[in-house]
Amino acid sequence: MTETALATATYAPSEATRKHAHVDAATYDKMYAASINDPDGFWSEQAQRVDWIKPFTKVKDVNFDLGNVHIKWFEDGTLNVAANCVDRHLATRGDQTAIIWEPDDPKDAARHITYKELHGQVGKMANVLKAMGVKKGDRVVIYLPMIPEAAYAMLACARIGAIHSVVFAGFSPDALGARVTGCDARVVITADTAPRGGRATKLKDNVNQALRHDLNDVKCLVVRRTGDQIAWRDGLDFWYHEEADKVSSDCPPEEMNAEDPLFILYTSGSTGQPKGVVHTTGGYLVYAALTHQTTFDYHEGDVYWCGADVGWVTGHTYILYGPLANGATTLMFEGVPTYPDASRFWQVIDKHGVNQFYTAPTALRALMGQGDEFVTQTSRKSLRILGTVGEPINPEAWNWYYKVVGDSRCPIVDTWWQTETGGHMMTPLPGAHALKPGAAQKPFFGVKPVVLDPTSGQIIEGNGVEGVLAIADSWPGQMRTVWGDHDRFEKTYFSDYKGYYFSGDGCRRDEDGDYWITGRVDDVINVSGHRMGTAEVESALVAHAKVAEAAVVGYPHDIKGQGIYCYVTLMHGETPSEELRKELRNWVRSEIGPIASPDVIQWAPGLPKTRSGKIMRRILRKIAENDFGALGDTSTLADPSVVDDLIANRK
Ligand code: ATP
Ligand code: MG
Repeated sequence: MTETALATATYAPSEATRKHAHVDAATYDKMYAASINDPDGFWSEQAQRVDWIKPFTKVKDVNFDLGNVHIKWFEDGTLNVAANCVDRHLATRGDQTAIIWEPDDPKDAARHITYKELHGQVGKMANVLKAMGVKKGDRVVIYLPMIPEAAYAMLACARIGAIHSVVFAGFSPDALGARVTGCDARVVITADTAPRGGRATKLKDNVNQALRHDLNDVKCLVVRRTGDQIAWRDGLDFWYHEEADKVSSDCPPEEMNAEDPLFILYTSGSTGQPKGVVHTTGGYLVYAALTHQTTFDYHEGDVYWCGADVGWVTGHTYILYGPLANGATTLMFEGVPTYPDASRFWQVIDKHGVNQFYTAPTALRALMGQGDEFVTQTSRKSLRILGTVGEPINPEAWNWYYKVVGDSRCPIVDTWWQTETGGHMMTPLPGAHALKPGAAQKPFFGVKPVVLDPTSGQIIEGNGVEGVLAIADSWPGQMRTVWGDHDRFEKTYFSDYKGYYFSGDGCRRDEDGDYWITGRVDDVINVSGHRMGTAEVESALVAHAKVAEAAVVGYPHDIKGQGIYCYVTLMHGETPSEELRKELRNWVRSEIGPIASPDVIQWAPGLPKTRSGKIMRRILRKIAENDFGALGDTSTLADPSVVDDLIANRK
């Protein structure tokens, strides 16, 4: 099938999916209308899915006007997130598995942690933190591998009212140090070593390096993961297992106000310096629980797996808080999709009978490049729903996910959202919507998307239109501020388009009223007066059988204004040649049209990506512009050597 044909195919929910689903088309329409026409009534009812200590009387108090932006939900209610995610399940499902832990090495044993066990572990960790002097409102940085202790630590903070800031364990000492300083944390929780993909990262060494100068009074709690030798800072470092022996597992949950901060989390840094996003207690939890249940059509007894890392917001909302608030069994995976080989995801799905699986386009594209046998050698018959997040998914990758991974049986939810939004903002719902490959399609309940003209800021009405994507009103999961910098919060999200939350992304609303994310606003290029999203050209390139991955940026062009510069990674085993370059150019011309014909194609053995796997186009733009001096913040880059290679081989 050609790219265009792929993009126009639709997949209606099967009879079985529709009947099983919490939300079918009629229910979606009814609930969406209710959420927009009477937000107070809708959210007040939805908020009953969590247990409140003191019920709220006020649903929402929101202002998006520059200079006075404030966002409050359920502001006079009190609750505790850990009690909601753990304690309240004890009576009905104490012996049910809360967390399945799958280790990096498949030869090691997986673990099943029941809600009862989780309760004890969280209480212990909470008491250890208290004994170390952590109090309500204090910040704790969590720098852990994907081990159960990461979940215990997050929930322990929530239990005692400390604010956690999780830093992805792949980050460097400098990036870690900046985040410890950024939130003025007094305690860092880490492990001796993190095994990942058969390799080992010495986390405690990284912590020592991060804390060596101005942070040399910050305490460190160390989980023993491998038993490796580590350098100790006397009086400041504590073994978790030793401290845990000294305390009881009984720790009463702190009564928190709905608007007390739950966590700080930095954005991925794809477009610039990462922002310290603040989420609060009540609204976030309600939104996490509702979106998790609805989008993944989660039912009692399902085994649910989100393959993200807890270091990203996806891990916060959809490994931990959403699933546990719903009493689900959630899988936590320590490893990577390609270790020991590219079949690992699918083997884990068979091993644990996973029903819902959620991952990112970057992982899918990488696995697609390895060939189908890694998938087809497994059964995957337990799968019911597939999900994707993080970047626009190319129709080619969507199609592979749908046909090869899901055997044309499982709906794919393409969820558009951001660290800032706390939970899903747009997605098709499995039992309600006919899927369009590559489209995020429908706003979630309570979400009022608007398409704005990028220059005038005016609303563009009607269908078959394109512009920048903004949101007209608040939803409970919305971020409340940038930690320590409310000004930056207002400037970043509320100053470009008055009265709206500006997402930074572009979008198209098609003839049916469905939404397509076209990428970052910065990634729209203007070629001879034609505006186009670079994602479209990338999708066309990836649809070619020899292309594994592509990134496209604009660069100054004397005649056209902007030219199209393409970085192309070929499929495993393919060799670059002048002929292939010509073939790709013709391919894009025939897929999209002559206007999209690439001006430059550079072969790229690797693309610069954030640690969460997103392509950093701002760096590629600089390289294309021949401006290597000012690459900007590169602290969240996964592999800096990729950049050197691209500069050396620039066309
Ligand atoms: P920074 O804000 O620091 O530049 P970031 O935007 O990559 O980093 P995240 O919050 O992790 O940080 O990512 C949110 C962005 O990811 C969205 O704004 C959007 O561009 C992209 N995105 C996420 N999900 C989807 C999706 N399903 N379709 C298209 N784009 C998506
Ligand atoms: Mg962003």
